[in-house]
Amino acid sequence: MGTIRIAGLVKQSVVDGPGLRLTVFTQGCPHQCPGCHNPDTHDFAGGYDCESAEILGELGKNPLLRGITLSGGEPLCRVGELLPLVQDIKKAGKDVVCYTGYTFEELMQRREQDADLFALLEQIDLLVDGPYDQSRRDLTLRFRGSQNQRVLDLPASLRQGTAVWAEGYE
Ligand code: SF4
Repeated sequence: MGTIRIAGLVKQSVVDGPGLRLTVFTQGCPHQCPGCHNPDTHDFAGGYDCESAEILGELGKNPLLRGITLSGGEPLCRVGELLPLVQDIKKAGKDVVCYTGYTFEELMQRREQDADLFALLEQIDLLVDGPYDQSRRDLTLRFRGSQNQRVLDLPASLRQGTAVWAEGYE
């Protein structure tokens, strides 16, 4: 396993998806959403290299962790770094939530050209998609910041080729 450029880790989070989760904030984001809460994660040269084995080790240390959340930054700009880690996490029986500033439809347009991206998407259980839109900010939403974002059942969405909301989140 290699390293992943990250901004930081939160070892026990209850706000980044269902259950108790290990959250990895990847470094680097191209989206520039006005009102972004994590501007320190935008610079692709910022952050630090973290061993993937260290992240896997953190997950193994705490049996109460349900899975990992990939946040950022833009995790889908670090596909090659994340793919081996996420494959090992799924083999260990944990689930994967991923935040992205891309919409599901934008990602589907890259389906033919980007095999690694799709190998990663196939490992993800819940995808919170779309950029943060401060004009549609809503503090009552579960696991998302603005109304345009969606919590998608990604395996079902990939099977059907269209965005499918995760049950109970719409
Ligand atoms: S995608 Fe996320 S990290 Fe990137 S600018 Fe938008 S809110 Fe900030």
